[in-house]
Amino acid sequence: MKILVTGGAGFIGSNLVRMLIQDTEHTVLNIDALTYAGNEQSLDDLADHPRYTFDQVDICNADALSEVFINFQPDWVMHLAAESHVDRSIDGPGAFMQTNVIGTFNMLQSARTHFEQLKGNAKDDFKFLHVSTDEVYGSLGEEGLFSETTPYDPHSPYSASKASSDHLARAWADTYGLPVLVTNCSNNYGPYQFPEKLIPVVILKALKGESIPVYGRGENIRDWLYVGDHADALYTVVSKGKVGETYNIGGNNERTNLDLVHLLCDLLDELKARADGKSYAEQITFVEDRPGHDLRYAIDASKIKCELGWNPKQDHTSGFRKTVQWYLSNSAWTQNILSGDYKLERLGNS
Ligand code: NAD
Repeated sequence: MKILVTGGAGFIGSNLVRMLIQDTEHTVLNIDALTYAGNEQSLDDLADHPRYTFDQVDICNADALSEVFINFQPDWVMHLAAESHVDRSIDGPGAFMQTNVIGTFNMLQSARTHFEQLKGNAKDDFKFLHVSTDEVYGSLGEEGLFSETTPYDPHSPYSASKASSDHLARAWADTYGLPVLVTNCSNNYGPYQFPEKLIPVVILKALKGESIPVYGRGENIRDWLYVGDHADALYTVVSKGKVGETYNIGGNNERTNLDLVHLLCDLLDELKARADGKSYAEQITFVEDRPGHDLRYAIDASKIKCELGWNPKQDHTSGFRKTVQWYLSNSAWTQNILSGDYKLERLGNS
């Protein structure tokens, strides 16, 4: 298959592209605007691979997208490009509306034009996978899980823009017959995550000897999934999923933010102990909470498990250990990012 991946220079996209090239025989075209979050270095190892091509394209540019579809003639589209950081969406929601809503609209229109001129097997095989988040469902209380039928109730500009894009994707399926699949996934962690998100922030602040910020009292609960398991799930859905369906993806790995930060400090204590012998946990500092901070997200992933046979490979701690080890061994990747505009500062509380 020829697979068009959008946002492949980002965190999940780069892990997905690497998996597609290493574990399958498919050909991949990665289009990415290379915003602050996109980093070609994350795929340096694939730069000369004969089945991999990168093209710097902004999905807000409809003409450029049409050309991509005409030239590449994709069999499958895996659409991940997005503005993805909730705190940034509080400071500047405009880019989220442009990329997540208008950019997705452009992708759907280009895919539709492409799909309508396909014939025979090429038409039967074509699929458009829209990659989204569990944040569209809003917040849970102490009990319950999000399922594929949970009503949408987004609270942040980020989740509202992703909810809009999910509705567009489903509308293009219902109205134009575009073969769309949608996935909604819980919080990802792992290698190549931009160091503004919780897990890399904790690891890097700890190693720099700075205070480790925890929003509020650290009581918010997230369901964590290792990025490699998400990439496997996305491939499972695009290759085996039923067109028109939504699949929730989650790791069945709920933790309060404070528990998670303590786990990361314990792993760092073991893998790179502080020179003074004290625990990194001493650096934990509680800071003002994020406005509109959802209390709890948790996913019921039984549909993708029962219908498509997907299961996460990492258990409750193995993925976190791999992640800490990766950041310890790849300081050049993070240092390169931190030499740019972003310096681990707090965003979204202005
Ligand atoms: P990321 O911010 O690390 O990467 C996003 C990528 O999209 C970057 O490479 C960026 O350059 C690119 N991009 C942004 N605007 C673009 C534009 N206008 N045109 C082309 N490319 C553009 O994000 P991520 O964490 O890898 O998330 C990828 C997708 O998965 C997003 O759609 C996100 O909503 C979804 N998702 C993320 C998580 C998570 O925990 N990170 C969980 C569930 C779903």
